[in-house]
Amino acid sequence: MTITPPAADVDASDTTPFADDKLHASETHIDNDVQVDSIIRNQEFWFEDGSVVIIVGGQCFRVHQSILSRHSEVFNAMFSIPQPRYQEMLDGCPLVRLSDELSDFVDLLRVLYQPFYFDKLSEDADLNTLITFISGILRMSTKYMMRIIRQKCISVLQSKFPSTIEGCDTLLASKYLYPPEAIVRAIPLARESIVPEILPWAYYISTHIPTDELLNDASLSWRDKALCLAGKERLWEAQKTLTHAFVLTFERAPGCVSMCNQVFQFATERQSWKGLEMMRKSPHPLEMYTDWGSMKTCARCRESMERQHKAGREKLWELLPGMFELGSWKELQDHQGQ
Ligand SMILES: [Zn+2]
Repeated sequence: MTITPPAADVDASDTTPFADDKLHASETHIDNDVQVDSIIRNQEFWFEDGSVVIIVGGQCFRVHQSILSRHSEVFNAMFSIPQPRYQEMLDGCPLVRLSDELSDFVDLLRVLYQPFYFDKLSEDADLNTLITFISGILRMSTKYMMRIIRQKCISVLQSKFPSTIEGCDTLLASKYLYPPEAIVRAIPLARESIVPEILPWAYYISTHIPTDELLNDASLSWRDKALCLAGKERLWEAQKTLTHAFVLTFERAPGCVSMCNQVFQFATERQSWKGLEMMRKSPHPLEMYTDWGSMKTCARCRESMERQHKAGREKLWELLPGMFELGSWKELQDHQGQ
């Protein structure tokens, strides 16, 4: 992954005056041509021994260069270069202005200053809570090249958006529920923060959102909507021909000594048109089939179907990114990097 340092957004040599009456700048460089609205001192992150003042979203934070540098390649580079002569100062600290969201920056500082901050996110947190918790930290850690923190965010996301079939099986077994409005938040977040490995599963579960709801969603692009709908058709096709083909078209196993085809036909006649229509509306080819008993076939035929199902699911998992025009898992992995 290539992360470009946000040079355009960060200007440590800005000579804009710091004009807040509540704050007493000891070495503020004044340029009367530029005005700055009142800036609030953030109570949570104003350390008397801080060594840099950062202004974000109308608030200022006095924090430690060493802590920022330790975690971020971008801040490390910024603080390593000699300070320019006209460096704007406040209380003896250099001033840095960032163009990020205030809440994203606060979340990031909480991670940096609270060792167990991620523990505040409970393992069974609903998806909306999880995405709200992680979004700002992921955006900031990506932009400022904080690799360990970014990786932690990705691990949290991957626990709900798996990129391996084993992770998928664990997740399906947990019966985790995905509210549609939370799923669609994950897709733009994955794109913006360069975490494409979570996209195949995010699209997969998006196919269960009713079409009208999907089309009216304001957070997804038209391309994303088109990909969801095209992928849904492909998943249904794969469910019929690859993962659950045995439900529709039965073939006796080579060693079958019973009349399994007749027995099977009798059993599957109960498979109603309505049931098939439900499957078409919400295709779920990765769903583990478990109702083998109702097939009433001989052991050999059952083993054969179980093998087909297992191989079909593995094949489908391999094909999953391609169903949403995302290339291969390997390409997604390479794009995501560390
Ligand atoms: Zn048989």
